[in-house]
Amino acid sequence: MDLSRYISKKESSKLVANQRLNIIFASSEVAPFSKSGGLGDVASALPRALAQRGHNVVIVTPLYGHLDSEQMRLSRRLQPLEVPRKSKQQSKVEATLWETRLNHGVRIVFVEAEEYFGRQGLYGYDDQAFEDNADRFAFFSRAVVEFTRSFALPVDVLHCNDWHTGLAPIYAKHYFDEEFQDTSIVMTIHNLAYQGKFDASEFDATGLPQKYADTSELFDEDGNVNYLKGGLQYADHLTTVSPGYADEIQTEAGGFGLHEILQNRSDDLVGILNGADYTVWAPDVDRHISVRYDIDSLNGKRRNKAELQHRMGLPIRPTLPLLGVISRLTEQKGIDVLVPTIRTLLSDLEDERDGFQLVILGEGPPQFRDALQELAESFPTRVVFQPGYDEAMAHRIQAGSDVLVVPSRFEPCGLTQIYAMRYGTVPVVHSTGGLADTVSDLREDPEKGTGFVCQELTEDALAGAIERASAAYRNYRKWRPLMVRAMERDFSWHESARSYESLFTSLHQQEQAAE
Ligand code: ADP
Repeated sequence: MDLSRYISKKESSKLVANQRLNIIFASSEVAPFSKSGGLGDVASALPRALAQRGHNVVIVTPLYGHLDSEQMRLSRRLQPLEVPRKSKQQSKVEATLWETRLNHGVRIVFVEAEEYFGRQGLYGYDDQAFEDNADRFAFFSRAVVEFTRSFALPVDVLHCNDWHTGLAPIYAKHYFDEEFQDTSIVMTIHNLAYQGKFDASEFDATGLPQKYADTSELFDEDGNVNYLKGGLQYADHLTTVSPGYADEIQTEAGGFGLHEILQNRSDDLVGILNGADYTVWAPDVDRHISVRYDIDSLNGKRRNKAELQHRMGLPIRPTLPLLGVISRLTEQKGIDVLVPTIRTLLSDLEDERDGFQLVILGEGPPQFRDALQELAESFPTRVVFQPGYDEAMAHRIQAGSDVLVVPSRFEPCGLTQIYAMRYGTVPVVHSTGGLADTVSDLREDPEKGTGFVCQELTEDALAGAIERASAAYRNYRKWRPLMVRAMERDFSWHESARSYESLFTSLHQQEQAAE
């Protein structure tokens, strides 16, 4: 991994905001060091955008086994971090802290604890979740709190992300309420489907006193310990990653059992749309693609398409629309609807010149992999499936495809469709959550539409949207303006970072007023 371009070259950030805040951003993944999905991208881009606005931001994240502190030239802190572990035989674990400064002055601190993180995989390996995840992320949450306490400056905001940090607000409030009086604890939900649920017998991993085992705060109705549920009740403020998703998660259908808690906290919950990091995800700077391009050099996109077709072993057919899918393979992502839809569409073709080609990049369990593999085998000149996680290929698909299909059942924000637009790759999406917030349908709004939206996730509706996209592609006079419009949409972090900043500043002012 070449990390040189991420490491700071001594930049000074001017204070854009009125008040410079000290923010600790805790995340279980941070691109490019560790990433399983959108959280990793957000955890690198949002801190940077806040630092660009003049804030002092420190990211805290685990040092996983695939990360080499020497190769990354990290500096080791002389003082280890003592993390109490009441649940263990030992009373504390000494974690080594490693740090470096990233672009725009963001500092990143890696927590090294061999027994928890010194292995391959973030949350599991080979489709199997690690058995000690309850322990691992209780430890991480506690490490975040101890790090915050040890911070040399008063911490204004402790920003926790997803269930992996769900226990941090509880630890802070239970053990150190006074110390955290002036620190606002914000919890962001990146995906409510993942809550960190464990068998009740794992409660000991939290190290919390018995009283927490006797209330419903940390337990689901079905008796499981639920880390996110705890965090959502103890954090001072909640955010999620799109306004649409903020509404959805307060409904029974979208709340994954937590809708009532979220309804009760609706005054403290706000949806702020994720942004795109255009220093990484833009066709004029992308380091992974062979021909860079922009609105004025769209020919470059054609060359990326031909290269992608060639690399994937598809016939090089400029006139056929090339569809791309870049996805974790899970129930959420609608792969079970996509596969039969594509099969029907391609089976019905009457002419070689009709239809489309499709490349799919996806990591996930055998049930989805096998279905996609079979689909590819049925249509060898039309469909290619590349299993696994491949960052460079994700970029090449963005640049080389004409259309990106995102048929998610629900989608908190979704980044791939946002990135796609910048590459002139027109999205086909299901109207849900952040997909509905970011893509407007061409038929609904011929002047401003940026993609094709299916209102419900059925085979018919998805097929209709794909067919509309394929037909539009064949009319370049119509297609080109659509591409250009998509490329001109600005989803940079600038606006979103301002929204986080306003939230953080108002929370900080409330803390000060309360004193
Ligand atoms: P989620 O967080 O639910 O996975 P998002 O759309 O928010 O979905 O973010 C997905 C991120 O993960 C994007 O950066 C996308 O390029 C990347 N990604 C998803 N699957 C793969 C894969 N198999 N290989 C490489 N990158 C992937």
